[in-house]
Amino acid sequence: MYTLGRSLRVLAKQSRINARMHAIQVAKKTSASGVLLAANSSGSSLRSVLAPGTLRPSSTLSLAAHLRPTQALGRSRSSDPTLAPGCPPNLRITEMGQTFPPHMTSPLVALSETITRCVSTSTATCLEGKKEAEGEKAVEDPRIVEQRFVDEADVVVVGAGPAGLSAAIRLKQLANERGQELRVIVVEKAGEVGAHTVSGAVIETRALDELIPDWKERGAPLDQPALEDHMHYLTRSSSIPLPHPPQMSNHGNYIVSLNNVVKWLGEQAEELGVEIFPGFAASEVLYDDQGAVQGIATNDVGLDKDGRPKDNFERGMALHARVTLFAEGCHGSLTKTLIRRFDLRKDSQPQTYGLGIKEVWEIDPAKHTPGAVHHYVGYPVDYQTYGGGFLYHMADNLVSLGYVVGLDYRNPYLSPYQEFQRFKAHPKLRATLEGGKCISYAARALNEGGYQSIPKLTFPGGALIGCTAGFLNLPKIKGTHTAMKSGIVAAEVAAEAILGAYKAAGEGAEEVPYTALDVSPYEQAMRDSWVYQELYAVRNVRPSFHSPLGLFGFMAWTGLDTVVLKGKAPWTWKHPGPDYAMLQPAKNFKPIAYPKPDGEVTFDLLESVSRTGTNHAENQPVHLQLKDPKVQVERNLPVFAGPEARFCPAGVYEYVDDDAHPGQKRFQINSQNCIHCKTCDIKDPAQNINWTVPEGGGGPQYSLT
Ligand SMILES: Cc1cc2nc3c(=O)[nH]c(=O)nc-3n(C[C@H](O)[C@H](O)[C@H](O)COP(=O)(O)OP(=O)(O)OC[C@H]3O[C@@H](n4cnc5c(N)ncnc54)[C@H](O)[C@@H]3O)c2cc1C
Ligand code: SF4
Repeated sequence: MYTLGRSLRVLAKQSRINARMHAIQVAKKTSASGVLLAANSSGSSLRSVLAPGTLRPSSTLSLAAHLRPTQALGRSRSSDPTLAPGCPPNLRITEMGQTFPPHMTSPLVALSETITRCVSTSTATCLEGKKEAEGEKAVEDPRIVEQRFVDEADVVVVGAGPAGLSAAIRLKQLANERGQELRVIVVEKAGEVGAHTVSGAVIETRALDELIPDWKERGAPLDQPALEDHMHYLTRSSSIPLPHPPQMSNHGNYIVSLNNVVKWLGEQAEELGVEIFPGFAASEVLYDDQGAVQGIATNDVGLDKDGRPKDNFERGMALHARVTLFAEGCHGSLTKTLIRRFDLRKDSQPQTYGLGIKEVWEIDPAKHTPGAVHHYVGYPVDYQTYGGGFLYHMADNLVSLGYVVGLDYRNPYLSPYQEFQRFKAHPKLRATLEGGKCISYAARALNEGGYQSIPKLTFPGGALIGCTAGFLNLPKIKGTHTAMKSGIVAAEVAAEAILGAYKAAGEGAEEVPYTALDVSPYEQAMRDSWVYQELYAVRNVRPSFHSPLGLFGFMAWTGLDTVVLKGKAPWTWKHPGPDYAMLQPAKNFKPIAYPKPDGEVTFDLLESVSRTGTNHAENQPVHLQLKDPKVQVERNLPVFAGPEARFCPAGVYEYVDDDAHPGQKRFQINSQNCIHCKTCDIKDPAQNINWTVPEGGGGPQYSLT
């Protein structure tokens, strides 16, 4: 009886799947003629429509899928490169169907392969694609077409960083104040809250004071006040003191391990009743029939590298919410799909980034000056490369030191990791580190675009908060306080919307359907907040680096702007373009000869990676997806000398000899090493690498970073 029931359920699902595939509509529009061609396709004709060469590289592509037979057919949005509402999101066309850089001559090779191979997270449609491609060999495992378990909450927050946890805490505070129940769920891809956090960190307590005024009494791990500020200009062998810029003053701030602060915030949230799910990576945004964000899905776990379920397979979970807040940190993997789908960057500049690489050391107590904050410019990068270092003396003989390289660098031979080693080897830094012990290594991208790069923050059913929106204040090198404040502001707007809906219904929460609510007032509330005031005042600082004077123009302008003009210049400079487009061909440069590690202060890359505790389950789908598997070898290697092997701070990418084709190279991805910094997704000049979440719980296990 059980078997029969199960078979019937599988059959029923199967027929729904077929209906889906037959209802997929592909619309293509050539930008040259403006002609819109649409084909009502089954899977096979879909593939022929998408055959290589049927679209021009500059074409925009859009798909409309018809999930339920009752929906109207023919819905396509030719100007929107993302999937139309209701589309099965993991067709991955969301990632492909954008305006392709001109050098990507055949994006549709990748596109059609993606559909047919479909080594993707989970959905039934994918399996269908796989079946078509592989015929009888295709996987037909009922587990993979099972409907996801659906849970519902008032608010789902993606990411348990400072922004996400501040939002969750504020929501529960407001609900408690009003005696209302509010279910708040936070999903976090790290195995433990804080284990993916990378920061300096000297933090301002402004937002924390607002959120938890008695944080001291509650034992927040802010033990080391910042006591002295120093700014240095480094030459190859010496260090020249510089006046400390007023906007970088750390008076009243604290030197912390942000991991520890985030863990503590997690505890505060749980005390208030927030449900935190560490080890759960949000892999898909879910949309309702109207195209509003309905929540997220966590990825399936227990798939092998080909997308086939293993014995430990578990279907991901769907979390539906009235409001979904995305707090993924810098360059969020779901955020980027939302930005495309809702065209959130329509009225803003591209985001620009830096890569921060850091270590924590235990040093000789005689060299330790608790509370000292040092910043460095100059050596080791040249004056046209944006870069700088920091050294913060924490409590307990620990120092946190790091180096940030602007990802708009031009020379493809540059390696941010090696620049960090050169920084540490400078006599000034070496003197502090020698005799000490390196405890942790970490790397993470951070936002540099500032005010002019903030996208539209809201869309139906949700909003972007924290660094995924880009609130970092670059001259201060601080984003924790602004991330937290944005979480607080978003929470206040979301609580108003949800509790207002309860009130309007005149009933308990259970009477109000789980439909997406509008949080658009968050946009204006942020504009009215001190976050925007701060960011507006320093908006011209980063773009000033792009004068022919590079660092020197930047220093001169920063002094004038922040001391004399105080941000009141009547213009706003633009960034020259996205970071990936700044990389120049290798023929314009000479390779950089980086020194060998000494094993005392400077280290081999893989030794550093071993200090991250990184672990990804073996034999899982590669989370670093290539849109076109050939682009790296055919373009990035000859033109840019294979920059991936240098910009990745974890040795994930290698060009190795191709045994199958003697004399040629192949691109190897050691995805198990990935420390989730997102640099490859940002800096790949072909924009061919798509960073997606691996199985939840994988990745680095940072501490003290
Ligand atoms: C090298 C470096 C130095 C810095 N120094 C300072 C400093 O001194 N002072 C300061 O104030 N700021 C500093 N910052 C910036 C600061 O760290 C950030 O502004 C702050 O962490 C942003 O908080 P957030 O919550 O927005 O994002 P994050 O702290 O990045 O948190 C995002 C969280 O979301 C999780 N996540 C992401 N995607 C998903 C997903 N799809 N599913 C589930 N979970 C997901 C991540 O694992 C992470 O835990 C520094 C940053 C770097 C990289
Ligand atoms: S693979 Fe990409 S995200 Fe992972 S560590 Fe390397 S550059 Fe960072």
